[in-house]
Amino acid sequence: MGSWTVTVNSPRKTMSLGARLGDVVQGGEIIGLIGELGAGKTCFVRGFTAGVEVGKDAWVRSPTFTLINEYHGRLPVYHIDLYRVGKQEELEGLNLREYLYSDGVSLIEWFEYLPAREVDAYLEVAIAHGGGAKREIKFVAHGARYELLLEALQQAELKTSKVQGSNRLKSKG
Ligand code: ADP
Ligand code: MG
Repeated sequence: MGSWTVTVNSPRKTMSLGARLGDVVQGGEIIGLIGELGAGKTCFVRGFTAGVEVGKDAWVRSPTFTLINEYHGRLPVYHIDLYRVGKQEELEGLNLREYLYSDGVSLIEWFEYLPAREVDAYLEVAIAHGGGAKREIKFVAHGARYELLLEALQQAELKTSKVQGSNRLKSKG
């Protein structure tokens, strides 16, 4: 199982990682977000929608009260929050499978609330507080498709940081 941990120091960097993931998805992926309240899950999703080229006028807010928000960019994006879904019947009422097994990309906050074995292949994104604006973001690939996705994400991130690095050098000189 491939995994990759990145330490970030600002919401901007969390968004930028989300955007890189948004750049490399192809449709049909499931992204499971884990982390306590205020960890930065919604922040990551906001960056992701930018990567998928969702229009700037589509305001990405926490879907806690709506359970599912849908955005349309290069691909459909389903932003799902299971925080308030307490009961099993409520979860069934959402018809999650319609979203999960579609051409769109599903990002699910409080992914751990999904019953075990409901989804066996997905990219796990676990965000942990590190004090202040520090966060540790751990990506874990579950399933072959997600190993490839994680590799693509790492390549995309490497490229971005190289460009940023050279811009920094340029602006200094
Ligand atoms: P969650 O969806 O996990 O409950 P949110 O993304 O809604 O969390 O909120 C995260 C909060 O933490 C925001 O207020 C954001 O500004 C703040 N924050 C501080 N540092 C970071 C960081 N490195 N990444 C993400 N959010 C951060
Ligand atoms: Mg949230």
